[in-house]
Amino acid sequence: MKIKATLSTDRQKGKIFIISGPSGSGKTTLLQRLFKNKKLKNSVVKSISFTTRPRRSGERKNKDYFFISEKEFKQKRSAKKIIEWTKYLSYYYGTPKEFVEQQLEKEKNIALCLDKKGALNIKRLYPKLTVTIFIIPPSIEELQKRIEARCNKTKKEEIKNRVRLAQRELSLSRKYDHRIFNKNLNLAAKELQDIVLNEIHA
Ligand code: 5GP
Repeated sequence: MKIKATLSTDRQKGKIFIISGPSGSGKTTLLQRLFKNKKLKNSVVKSISFTTRPRRSGERKNKDYFFISEKEFKQKRSAKKIIEWTKYLSYYYGTPKEFVEQQLEKEKNIALCLDKKGALNIKRLYPKLTVTIFIIPPSIEELQKRIEARCNKTKKEEIKNRVRLAQRELSLSRKYDHRIFNKNLNLAAKELQDIVLNEIHA
């Protein structure tokens, strides 16, 4: 059954920015830069997803993700507390419905890091408010290096799967409103900032 948005989209003025890109494309770093940007002056808030994936070293509980068990995830999903969800390499990920709707009601802009399924689902729920942005890594070789550096070296299978998925995701980037080539981090961060500023002031 499809989840429906509870709010009327006509009343809302905030935008929903969805950033997608393969694992290792640099989307998390670019989003962090966006939140620090002085020109945006806290006008974009981050949505923190629920995930059943184990926490990586360096990740902060309730800041990077709400790390929960599969049982808790399924309970939240049944209780319709998750507005969209995906299963990525055997772990569940989902966006909290209440947070998104509260921010929209306050006319805040929201940024979310989602896979393609999530991006398309949010666009379907809020077509007028959603702006989708895809981050393209410089090359598959560079991507593989970044994924290897991040993942636990013993998890060869996960590295292989993430690289395979990344190749598939890249071929879908044309469905997005904007695409950013992340070869140079400063330039890519500026491009993201410009897209967000233009959309907010459109
Ligand atoms: P990672 O394990 O690398 O943090 O995330 C794996 C993938 O799941 C990434 O593409 C990330 O953008 C996506 N993701 C994270 N949270 C959510 C969510 O709440 N919903 C959806 N659809 N995708 C998510």
